[in-house]
Amino acid sequence: MISKKVVLRFPEEIADKPLVSDICKKFELTFNIMRANIFPRKEGILTLEISGEENSFNSGIQYLKDNSVSISFVEESINRDESSCYHCGFCVAVCPTEALIITDRKTMRVDLFKDRCIACGYCVNVCPVKAMSLPDEF
Ligand code: SF4
Ligand code: SF4
Repeated sequence: MISKKVVLRFPEEIADKPLVSDICKKFELTFNIMRANIFPRKEGILTLEISGEENSFNSGIQYLKDNSVSISFVEESINRDESSCYHCGFCVAVCPTEALIITDRKTMRVDLFKDRCIACGYCVNVCPVKAMSLPDEF
């Protein structure tokens, strides 16, 4: 079994197609919705955690790609510039998933746990030195 968080971007032409429910039925996958931005008669952006057997997961992702859905994996996309971060903790206060937490109370060190990130971008907006980043398409 694998479980990955992905950002799916549906262009306007396919925004009304039930592609996510298709992959669940066809490939026996399950999903949790982490974020959804649907713009009527425009594109839709969904952040999901998709789970299932590895082969089924890969087939489901390929099915979405074949249907013109653009896909980004959250864990590979969130990044922190370690040389810029000075562990101020501002990002910890806004991160909704505890992907950014203080791991050492003495030094107030802040660590990033990419597997918990949902690509909300809050940390990117508050970081005073722009250490946190997500690709533009997010
Ligand atoms: S807000 Fe920026 S500088 Fe401060 S702890 Fe977070 S990543 Fe580091
Ligand atoms: S984008 Fe930043 S604030 Fe949002 S979940 Fe990921 S690490 Fe936390």
